[in-house]
Amino acid sequence: MKIQAAVAESTGARITVEELELEDPGPGEVRVRLVATGVCHTDTITRDGDLPLPLPGVLGHEGAGVVDALGAGVEGLSVGDHVVMGWPHCGKCRNCLRGEPRYCALLGPAVASGARYRGPLEGSSGYRRADGSPISGHFFGQSSFATYSIADATSLVLVDKDLDLKLLGP
Ligand SMILES: [Zn+2]
Ligand SMILES: [Zn+2]
Repeated sequence: MKIQAAVAESTGARITVEELELEDPGPGEVRVRLVATGVCHTDTITRDGDLPLPLPGVLGHEGAGVVDALGAGVEGLSVGDHVVMGWPHCGKCRNCLRGEPRYCALLGPAVASGARYRGPLEGSSGYRRADGSPISGHFFGQSSFATYSIADATSLVLVDKDLDLKLLGP
């Protein structure tokens, strides 16, 4: 589907909004319609080259939104659910099994490789430019500087629909 996304073209470059093509969510992924996102210094330092995200790419890692579509194998979420987007985690490494997913052994590729970090689509990006060239997405499992995101399902936290999503991302 077509989305609007804020793209960091190169190290230090001004971030600009453009139309991208977003793939349908793959296994273990969820498409989220963003309602709001925080803007954090981690986005800035990544744009400036301090995290190894290959550019161009879509930043943003404090999203909040509404579940729009589910990929294969996703359980516990339904279309229309309200979610806050956190960090992805593999659920299988030593630290995940200890209940410390924040320290997942796959955290590096999960947050800053610009591509899927596991599963049958590992190494691929779901984000393409109008000319068909892939660019980095999946930043912190979400790339929330966009109208829609393909999120890693493990990064999503279900929240009450009475709460104002505009306030929940950060
Ligand atoms: Zn942050
Ligand atoms: Zn893990």
